[in-house]
Amino acid sequence: MRTLITGIGEVVSGDIAAPLIDADSIAIVDGRIEAIGHGLDGEADVVIDAHGSTVLPGLIDSHAHPVVGDFTPRQRTLDFIESSLHGGVTTMVSAGEPHLPGRPKDVVGLKALAIAIARAYATFRPAGVKVRAGAPILEHGLVEADFAEMAAGGVRLIGEIGLGSVKSGADAAPMVAWGRAHGMVSTFHTGGPSIPGSSAIGSDAVLEANPDIAGHINGGTTSLSEADIDRLVTADSGIALELVHCGNGRTALFALQRAADVGALRRVILGNDAPSGTGVIPLGILRLIAHLASLGDVAPETIVAMATGNTARVHGMDTGVLAAGRAADLCIADAPIGSVASTVLAALANGDIPGISMVLIDGVPVIGRSRNTAPAARVDEIVKGPAVGGGGH
Ligand SMILES: [Zn+2]
Repeated sequence: MRTLITGIGEVVSGDIAAPLIDADSIAIVDGRIEAIGHGLDGEADVVIDAHGSTVLPGLIDSHAHPVVGDFTPRQRTLDFIESSLHGGVTTMVSAGEPHLPGRPKDVVGLKALAIAIARAYATFRPAGVKVRAGAPILEHGLVEADFAEMAAGGVRLIGEIGLGSVKSGADAAPMVAWGRAHGMVSTFHTGGPSIPGSSAIGSDAVLEANPDIAGHINGGTTSLSEADIDRLVTADSGIALELVHCGNGRTALFALQRAADVGALRRVILGNDAPSGTGVIPLGILRLIAHLASLGDVAPETIVAMATGNTARVHGMDTGVLAAGRAADLCIADAPIGSVASTVLAALANGDIPGISMVLIDGVPVIGRSRNTAPAARVDEIVKGPAVGGGGH
């Protein structure tokens, strides 16, 4: 199965070291990118003319709270993952499943829950979206053998530390290390509490525990202080710095600027932190990209890399970067009709949310024109191959 995308105006790579690719066409074979270049042709089963649109990697939401299937008990909403797909999200990472009514907090129960959720989403892709979930909330009493058992059961994440009884750096540090030894990527909640029963967590606890990700350093929803953010950004650590949509917009810009100042932009990753008390926000990642790209001092293509390649690196994923051999998860988009801008990057720099006209996952078009973004000015066209359903308006 070979797919060709031709007539591309701009290619955004998702690789923060080289965020733009000089190319007008992409070839995909059996779900993986074969080549990115100029004038690619040859036999293809599907040919898509981008008509001058921009191609960018499918977005990775580093901070979601799924529970089961495409339903969130928190907001009693169905198909929120499918709605996020219409906002360009092709991969969603769970930061924990605390919204399960009656969530078990004993060791046996939390292990069983994490393994069940990890396996369910490994089997089921809502609307085609890749969901990495099964992220246990740490509670007192866990020992290394529990992490080995969860990892053997398919668990690759540790959910937001601090939502359960393990809150201090000293308590979390050994568990983070056990998880890491067994291949699990950990996130520490920071800032004020998001749900009753959790508590404020500052930079001291995070640096002592040394997780892979400092969760929503701009708040989820209540932000760390600027001093705490500064400490996390400037610390000599490899801890990823997560900014989320459902946080504080001002401190997100502060964190971005500090990361730029000290050369730490490759550590910045973007999440939505939805579903949450803030709601279900299908365009959350695009909104955060537009916020940072229009009000901050960092180029839009670099911000896109924070929502794609940077997150893929933290989680060891084969998506998020447009390069030969990577999974062909990508969005075709353009400036929205009526924008003062005429390209995706110019629209983002202006604060406008691009219009998505197609999303492909593993090389397969899963939606045509997004039902959630404003309509794209230029729309791709399938010149060979089956039509794909869109959302329309
Ligand atoms: Zn949180």
